[in-house]
Amino acid sequence: EQTAEQTAQQAADEPRFDPAAVRDDFPLLGVEVNGEPLVYLDSAATSQRPRAVLDAERSFLETVNSAVHRGAHTLAAEATELFEGARETVAGFVGAGPEQLVWTSGATAGLNLVAYSLGNAAAGRTVPGHEEAARRWAPGPGDEIVVTEAEHHANLVPWLELAARTGASVRAVPVRDDGTLDLEAAASLLSTRTRVLAFSHVSNVLGVVNPVEQLVALAREATGGRALTVLDACQSAPHLPLDLPALGVDVAVFSGHKVLGPNGVGALYGRAEVLEALPPFLLGGSMITTVTLEGAQYLPPPQRFEAGTQPVSQAVALAAAVDYQRAVTDRFGATAVLDHERALEHRLRHGLRGMPGIRLLGDAGEGAERVALQAFEVEGVHAHDVGQLLDARGVAVRVGHHCAQPLHRRFGTTASVRASAALYTTEADVDVFLDALAGVRSYFG
Ligand code: PLP
Repeated sequence: EQTAEQTAQQAADEPRFDPAAVRDDFPLLGVEVNGEPLVYLDSAATSQRPRAVLDAERSFLETVNSAVHRGAHTLAAEATELFEGARETVAGFVGAGPEQLVWTSGATAGLNLVAYSLGNAAAGRTVPGHEEAARRWAPGPGDEIVVTEAEHHANLVPWLELAARTGASVRAVPVRDDGTLDLEAAASLLSTRTRVLAFSHVSNVLGVVNPVEQLVALAREATGGRALTVLDACQSAPHLPLDLPALGVDVAVFSGHKVLGPNGVGALYGRAEVLEALPPFLLGGSMITTVTLEGAQYLPPPQRFEAGTQPVSQAVALAAAVDYQRAVTDRFGATAVLDHERALEHRLRHGLRGMPGIRLLGDAGEGAERVALQAFEVEGVHAHDVGQLLDARGVAVRVGHHCAQPLHRRFGTTASVRASAALYTTEADVDVFLDALAGVRSYFG
């Protein structure tokens, strides 16, 4: 049997991740704001980029920048190789193959792509040979699209629009007081009328990790496999190791700028047979095989969904972000990085919980898996005033409805404050934030 000392020694020997070891890689973290060192707790909105990402984009632009795929010249071939290599790297980041990864300008574009593609299928614009599959998912009058009450507007408004166009309706899985989804209600909402189940892996307000596999299984059982499952992985991709094929979703999206990568690039993952069957959304150059004045034939996926000039230097830099993250986890161990983020989550939530006059939006306690982001209200103080007073101390947080108005309404409010962390966030950042927040409350008496 192990003695207490041996157990303690073992814990002390486990590799620990110290964010100080990576902070120097992020030039922006060194700036001062209002004469105070920046405490950046807005990574859920956009993460900061390490020098490796900034350098990758700059180096691409300085040495190989060219239009990809069609060029006969050397630079075009090199640019194409880097661009397609980036696809392989970013696909690998989510456990997928390159043919399963479509470049987009971000998660919003990816979700619109799927919704408009289904709208095209509903209008009869199916891919030859795949009519049956596309019709299975395309909503029509009386059909239903199921979302959750916690969705970011990017995973809600495109579905509302699709419903309005096709005569379908949108139904929402309720969120419980503790921020978890009501799975019993989900089971009764899903039916043979459901054509789409669209939900986030992690809500950008609640921070709770939703049970993806369970929801996918519920959808399969209740709809006889008829519903397309769509995962918004924007807030899980920065924090959790992702294996999208293993999760079993049909399609998923995420944004580059939230995973240490650049703006203007994101990805849509799809199961091979799903991408094969979906008709294109954007049309034009680079996505066709033959065009006549009467019609056009489309390339297979992923090119079918990549009309026009793509965000090439951004895709290359996103691959550098994935490589950077992998190098960090290789150096410290994936568990040590996850443990660090878990410790931040705990410190943040318990610090807020222990403060009088603070109401957390959804507090699932220790039972639920969570990532380090938390929205809250300060009794008697408007979220915007809280944000301004924190800013005066150099603390950057998000205020407002965080593009989740229905969720705020459900919690009886219109605006909240959100603090969110990334792998470069320190415990000291969280402490400065909590201290500044205590000052906000005393300022307002
Ligand atoms: N979904 C979630 C959960 C988000 O947090 C965000 C970004 O705030 C989005 C979708 C939209 O991402 P983007 O603005 O990068 O398209």
